[in-house]
Amino acid sequence: MEFESMYQDIILDHYRHPHNKGLRDPYDAEVHHVNPLCGDEVTMRVTLKAAGGVPAVADVSYDALGCSISQASASVMTDLVIGKSVDEAMAVSQEFLALMQSKGAGEPDEDLLEDAVAFSGVSKYPARIKCALLGWMAWKDATARALEEASS
Ligand code: ZN
Repeated sequence: MEFESMYQDIILDHYRHPHNKGLRDPYDAEVHHVNPLCGDEVTMRVTLKAAGGVPAVADVSYDALGCSISQASASVMTDLVIGKSVDEAMAVSQEFLALMQSKGAGEPDEDLLEDAVAFSGVSKYPARIKCALLGWMAWKDATARALEEASS
C-alpha cells in the first residue's frame, strides 16, 4: 500500500512539474505520436552528439497533451535518456517495455529505471500501457531518424 501511494506521488509530481517539457532548438529529428485509445499526443525532439566515438543523447524536449500517465511518463523518460549513450538509453527503454508487458508481475530494476519504476502498477491495466509507452516510443522513433540523418 505504501509503495503504491509513493509511486502515485512520483507520477503526480512529474505530471504537475514536468521535466524537459517545451520544444527546444536546435534538434536533429522531430516526431509526432498519438495514442488513439486515450487521446494522448506527444511531439518529441531529439538531439544526438558523439561521445567517445559513439552516438549519445545530447537533448530531448517535447510537448504533450493527454492523461497524467502519458505526460508523467514522457517527463521521467527524458530524465533517464539525456546524457546516456544511445545504446545505454535503448537498454533502459527495453527494460521499461519489459516492465509494461509484465502484467503486474515485473520486478523492475530500480537502479536502471529510477522514477520509471513508479509505472509498474500500470502494467496491470492493458488500456493504460500505451499511455505509459507513448513518450518512449516517440523517443525511439525520433532517435532512429536522427541516427539515419547522421549516417546519410
Ligand atoms: Zn493516456
